[in-house]
This record gives sequence, structure tokens and C-alpha cells, in this order.
Amino acid sequence: MHWVARAQPPLHALAPPMPIFEAEAIVLRQYSLSDADRIVVFVTREHGRMRAAAQGVKKPKSRIAACLEPLNHIRLEFWAREGRELSQVRQAELIHSYLGKNPDLLRVYAFSYFAEIINELVQDNQANPSLFRLLLATLNAGEKHSANPSLVRYFEIWCLKLSGLFPNYAYCSNCGKYVKDEGFFALVEAGQARCPACAQGRGIRVGAGAYAALESMVKLSPEQFAVQPLARDAAADIERLSQKLLGLHLEKQLKSYRILKETLEGS
Ligand SMILES: [Zn+2]
Repeated sequence: MHWVARAQPPLHALAPPMPIFEAEAIVLRQYSLSDADRIVVFVTREHGRMRAAAQGVKKPKSRIAACLEPLNHIRLEFWAREGRELSQVRQAELIHSYLGKNPDLLRVYAFSYFAEIINELVQDNQANPSLFRLLLATLNAGEKHSANPSLVRYFEIWCLKLSGLFPNYAYCSNCGKYVKDEGFFALVEAGQARCPACAQGRGIRVGAGAYAALESMVKLSPEQFAVQPLARDAAADIERLSQKLLGLHLEKQLKSYRILKETLEGS
């Protein structure tokens, strides 16, 4: 479905016209601004994260409202003036809706979790094309196959890597041993790996299976990784590590994670 919906221009009769910008965007979330208007938070390929007021979208006849649902991939035009934090949506064209057609609950929870991570990691007005591409490719893989634990782990680890938050764990920081064959213990605060002998019971255990999975993530697309078998204990090791690293750097618990975890464990 391709159509364009246009919002009313902002009513600042005496102000000079605001410049118009274009972006390729994915809707991360939205919240209420007034009786008729919402604020929509996007990640864009060109401008990083941005927030924009969408006027009239709470009215029943708004056509633009359907374009601005969370996890929609859209082409966006917006008004923005330098120094003003809040842009305004001018028009939106739907490219694809990832939660549009009766998505299963697992996809709803996983995709919402992906959006919450991106909302935390991408900065306002700072383009981060790598994270944008990662989100898009992961949503495509999740839609085509399933939002399974492999895909969730892949997305977390790559978000950390692309944000410079994933240390090089290849060698024991104490004895220098290459940890590939027996796995390692991650000293998360220090950003170091220890081989099992040097770890002395400290750190997060990442077994050899999890290590191999982390290595194969580097070489594979989200779709390729998500359709590979991933042993339960390797997935659990990677989950503990990625959750600890995300918690350390974001300094908060992501709201959408608990329900996703429960749903993944029940599926
Ligand atoms: Zn060692």
C-alpha cells in the first residue's frame, strides 16, 4: 500500500516559513501531546533519532495517523527550524508496516524491544546509518521467519558492537590465552575476558558454544543467523552477557524486555 498523507501546515502566520526536510524513518513510539496531536519518535537514516509533532492525528478522519504507527517504515517530510527541539510532521508515505497485518505476539514484543533499544542508543540529530540498517534488516528477518531467540540475541550483540560497547573478548586479560576453545568469563565492568583458570569464579560465563555463536554473528546477516540452530545454553550465555552490557551502558532496565523474555521462554 503506497499513499501519501499530509498534515495541516503549522499556523505561525507571522513567522518565516519553516524549512522542509525529508527522511527515511522507522517509527519508534508515539505519545499524546494534546486532544488532537501526538508526538512521534522516529529513527531516521539521515538525521538519527528525532521527535516531531503530528497535528490532528488523534482525530478519527486523520489519514496520516495510520502512517505513524510504531514500527512503520516510512518516507517522512517534516518542518524543522534550527534550535527548535520539536519538528513537525508535514507528510508521510508508508513503505512497510512491520506490525500491520495481524502480527503474532512474539513479533509485537520483539519488535517493540528492538525499537526501545534503538531509542536509547541512537542520538538526536546524529545520523547512525549502521544502526538504522541493522534495525531494518532485523525487522525484515523477523517478519520473514520468526522473532526467535537467535534473532533477539543477534540484534542485541550488534547494537552493542555498532555502539562501541562490546569489548574484544578474544584473549584472557590475565594470561593472554586465546579463549575460543573453552569459552571465557566476561568481567563486564572492566571490559575484559578471563580464561576459566584465571577467572576464579568471577564474571559472566560465556561457554565455547556461545563464543562460536558470537563469532558467526560477525559473518552472517540477521536472517542467516536467525535460521541457524542455536543451542539453548549458548543462547542463555549470550543473553546474560548482552543484558548485563546493555544494563551497564544504558543505566536502566528496558521496559519491553520482561514480557518478551516470558513470551520467548513460553514459546
Ligand atoms: Zn587466563
